[in-house]
Amino acid sequence: MKYTFEISVAGCNTACAHCYISGGKAPAMKFDDYIKIINKLNDIIRKIDGDISVTLGNDIFNHPRIGEIISFTKELMPSYYSYDNFFVPTTGIALINRKDRDLVIDVLKKAGCTGFMLTLHGGEEHHNEITNNNLSYCALLEIAKWLNSEHFKIRFNLMLSKYLITDWQSVCEVLGNFPEAERRLTVPLYLPAERMRGFQKYRADYDDCMALDGKLRKINIDEQSFFDAVNKNCEKSVFNELESAGRFDYAEENAGSQQWAFFNIVKNGDIFYGNAGLHTRCLGNAISGGADELLRKITAAPANFEWSAYYDIERLPPVKLLMKKIKPLRYNYVYSSKEDCVYSWFDAVGADTILLK
Ligand code: SF4
Repeated sequence: MKYTFEISVAGCNTACAHCYISGGKAPAMKFDDYIKIINKLNDIIRKIDGDISVTLGNDIFNHPRIGEIISFTKELMPSYYSYDNFFVPTTGIALINRKDRDLVIDVLKKAGCTGFMLTLHGGEEHHNEITNNNLSYCALLEIAKWLNSEHFKIRFNLMLSKYLITDWQSVCEVLGNFPEAERRLTVPLYLPAERMRGFQKYRADYDDCMALDGKLRKINIDEQSFFDAVNKNCEKSVFNELESAGRFDYAEENAGSQQWAFFNIVKNGDIFYGNAGLHTRCLGNAISGGADELLRKITAAPANFEWSAYYDIERLPPVKLLMKKIKPLRYNYVYSSKEDCVYSWFDAVGADTILLK
């Protein structure tokens, strides 16, 4: 089994419309509490048999002592906290404004960090609208230039939306200034979180995506794979697939999904079962709780990668009933997977989730 433990050490400077963890401004975790939490987590994970990783969120550069946090964590658990093949996500806003930026970057380099991921949503106006911050576009370009000058790899994560497509020329102009940067086109997830429901007005549909025909290969993005995914995961295709499947069993789908369990530790030390922003249960507290008791609860928890991560699958509407209710389809939105598409239909028919409010 794979295990991911994310520790939310700080909030964000943005409140991005596509953010399934509903990120935004939040006070930073106290440094002393972080040290207690990471020591306890270290005791616990050493006794777990699995593929384990520890990550920090949200925008780590908002934590005033992030340099010390990274050094301490890397020294304590070098194999669980790793920068191998990991591009640090940031909007750049916090990092460019740090007086100790050079020190923090030195720590990151020593920890093995070689790259950053910068997410772009479109031209300035639309990028700022989606991130809910009027400074975010300028900050992104400024930090990209600076990271370039520091010889970091940059991955531009192009977040698919109607805006990304209408602003394609502007997006290409930005990419043109960073010819060495990696480019990746991401279809936003759909998970049953309030923020995601609001993103639907920006979500690209099948016809929107067709406007990218012939354009992706010019910026070195695998056009064939993108359109294969669009054809497979647009609503009409998912609908047809489920209709022709004859039978669709949530429990079977759940058992066949990735064996990957997510846990999130928040500011006061509480450990939640579920990804950040998608908690379903509190397992205890990493500051005051006993390591053995937490270990028992963590190892008893099954994977929470798909269906049962958000729903009591026994209580979901049967697929045939679900499809009857959503027919005729009002949109042909493009999703990142069949599962995400079905989750959006669950929302459309008011199916209950098991997420904590
Ligand atoms: S997408 Fe990232 S930067 Fe934006 S609000 Fe969410 S966690 Fe914060």
